[in-house]
Amino acid sequence: MSDKNFYITTPIYYVNDVPHIGHAYTTIACDVMSRYKRLKGYDVFFLTGTDEHGQKIQQSAEKQGITPQALVDKIHLNFKDLWRVLNISNNDFIRTTEERHIKTVQAVFKKLMDQGDIYKGTYQGYYCVPCETYVPESSMGENKTCPDCGRPLTIMTEESYFFKCSKYVDKLIKYYEENLSGVMPKIRYNEIMSFLKSGVRDQSVSRTSLKWGIPVPGDEKHVIYVWFDALINYISALGWPDDGQGKFKKFWPDAYHMVGKDIIRFHCVTWPLMLLALGIDLPKSIIAHGWWTFNGEKMSKSKGNVIDPFKMAEEYGLDAFRYFLLREVPFGNDGDFSELALVGRINSDLANDLGNLLNRTLQMIESYRGGVVPSGAVNSELKDFAAKTLEAVDLNLNKFAFDEALKSIWAFISRANKFIDETEPWKLAKDAAQADKLDCVLLSLYEALRFIALLIAPFMPDTADKMLAQLGVESLGGYDAFEFGKGADNKINKAEVLFPRIDIKEWQKNYEAKREELRKRMESLNLENKDIKDVEVKDAPAENVIEHEAEIGIDDFKTVEMRVAKIIKAEEIKKSKKLYKLEVDLGYETRTVCSGIKAFFTTEELDGKRVILVCNLKPAKLCGIESNGMILAASVKKDGVSEQLTLVVPEADIPLGSRVS
Ligand SMILES: [Zn+2]
Repeated sequence: MSDKNFYITTPIYYVNDVPHIGHAYTTIACDVMSRYKRLKGYDVFFLTGTDEHGQKIQQSAEKQGITPQALVDKIHLNFKDLWRVLNISNNDFIRTTEERHIKTVQAVFKKLMDQGDIYKGTYQGYYCVPCETYVPESSMGENKTCPDCGRPLTIMTEESYFFKCSKYVDKLIKYYEENLSGVMPKIRYNEIMSFLKSGVRDQSVSRTSLKWGIPVPGDEKHVIYVWFDALINYISALGWPDDGQGKFKKFWPDAYHMVGKDIIRFHCVTWPLMLLALGIDLPKSIIAHGWWTFNGEKMSKSKGNVIDPFKMAEEYGLDAFRYFLLREVPFGNDGDFSELALVGRINSDLANDLGNLLNRTLQMIESYRGGVVPSGAVNSELKDFAAKTLEAVDLNLNKFAFDEALKSIWAFISRANKFIDETEPWKLAKDAAQADKLDCVLLSLYEALRFIALLIAPFMPDTADKMLAQLGVESLGGYDAFEFGKGADNKINKAEVLFPRIDIKEWQKNYEAKREELRKRMESLNLENKDIKDVEVKDAPAENVIEHEAEIGIDDFKTVEMRVAKIIKAEEIKKSKKLYKLEVDLGYETRTVCSGIKAFFTTEELDGKRVILVCNLKPAKLCGIESNGMILAASVKKDGVSEQLTLVVPEADIPLGSRVS
C-alpha cells in the first residue's frame, strides 16, 4: 500500500439541477488535482455524485407521474454524461439513494442518538402549504411569501430530531485556530470563524412533512433532513463504518473537500461538527471557490446567459475550456466568463505560444535531422528552468492556485520560444561546423516539449496525449521519472496543429448573430427581459461643461470603437518629454500606443492598469513610433496645457476587449 494517498471530493450535486458551469468548474478543478497527484505517484480517490432526496424531487416525480426513484435514476445521468464529456477521472460516483449510502447515514444517526447527541424536540419555521416546504428567512419573498409560488407563508411547528452541535462548537473553534488551512482561502476561514464565534444553535435533522428521504432508524414517520443525509456521502463512499476494503482507513486521513462559497456553512461548520461528534478526524482542508458571472452579469435563466458546459466544450474544444476556467481567475475569487476572453486565450496562449512551439520544433527536427531527435548535451539554462517550473507548479497546486501553476508553465513555454529566436537554428543548419550546437538546440527544445506535455497533462489531458503522439513518446510517465535529455534518439511523428487559430472578425460576427437570435427567442417567449434593459449604460448628466462640440447622432458616436484594454508595459521615449510608449493588451491582440501622459505617471504606476482604448483611430507616427490607438483620460487644462490628468478606467473587472458604448 502506498503511503502517499489523496482523497478529493466535489459536493454531491443536486440531481434536479441542470448541470451548469459552476458544477463543471468544481469538478474540473478536482480532476486536475487528481491527475496531478496521480502523476506524483499518489494513490488517488476522487469522488463525485448526486444528492437525490428532498421535497423538490418528490414534487417533480408526482408531476411526471413516476416514482421519485425512477426520476432520479433517469436524471442523475445528466451529470454522468457531463463528466464523461469533460473527461473527468473520478474513481467513484455516489448517489444518496444507494443502499451503501443509506446504511452509513442510518449508522451515523443511530450512533449520535445512542450517545445523546441527537434528541427529539419541536421544529418551528415558515412553511408554504401548497409547496409543502419550509422556507428559510434568507430566501423568503417580500412580506414573508414563498419564493417559488409567491403565496404567503405560515408558521408551522412539527416534531423533529435535533443534532446537539452546540456541544462541539468550542472544540471546532480550537481546531481551526490550530489548523489555519482547515478552510481555504483565508477570507472564507475568517468568515467561518466569526460565524462560529457568534454562536451555533442545535440543528433540526429530521422532517415529518417530507417522505422522500432516508427514514430515521426506529422512528419511520421521520425522514433525515437532506443536508445531514448528503454530507455523509464523504464517508459512506469510503465504506464507513464497516470499511471492509480498508478504504476509509487509507484515504480519510488525506481528505480534501472542494466546494462553492455558497455552501461553506454546511461544509465548514455542520459537517465538521458531525465528525467531531462521531469521533472522526476532520478533513485536511475544505477549499471554497468563487462564482462565475457572464460578461459581468450574474447568470440567470431569465437573462438567457447561463453557460452550458456541454456547448462550450463542443464549440471551443474541451481542453481550451478546461484551460480557460482554471487560468482566467485566481481560484477562490469570483470569475467572469466571457467567450471573447476565451477566444483570446485560445489564440494567444494555446495556438500561438504552445502550438507554435510544438510546430516549429517538430518541423526543424524533421527537416534538419530527418525526424530523429539528436543526442548529446542539453542546454543547461533550459534544463534548470524546467526544474524550477516543476517546483513552482508543485508549490502552487498544493495551494490550489491553479492559475499560478499555469502561469509558471506558460513562462517556461515563453522561454522556450525565445530560445528559438536567440539560437536561430535555421542559421546553424546552414553551417556544418555548427552541427553540435544545432543538435543541442533541437534536443533541448524537444525535451522542453516533452516536459510541457507532462506539466499540462492534468489540465489538458487530451492535448498532452496529442503532443506525445507527435513527439513519438509512448507514455506520460510520472514527474519523478522525468529526466531532461532522456528523449534523445526518439523518432518524431508528423506535426499537426494543436489549436487552430480562431478568426476573430468571423467569430465576432457569428457571436453577435447568436446573441441576437437568443434575444429574439426570449422576446418571443415573452420572458421577463427587464434585466437586460437595466444593464444598458445610461449617460450621466454632465456638469460644468464649458465648451460643447457640435451635436452628433448616435450613429456618429458608434463609429468610435472603444474597448477595455490593459497596459502591459510602459516605456520611456528618450526623445520625448510628454510621451510614453505603451504596450496594451486587448485580450485578442496587443498593440503599441504612444500616449502624452508622461508628466502625470511613472511607468510603474501604469503597468497592469486597465484603460479605455480608442481602437479605430488612424495609426500615427509619433517620435518615430507607430501609435495604434488612443487612451482615454480626463484632464483640467489651463491655457491649453493639462494641469491635472486622470485615466478613464473601467470600474469593475470586465474582460479585456469589452466594447465601451
Ligand atoms: Zn409555495
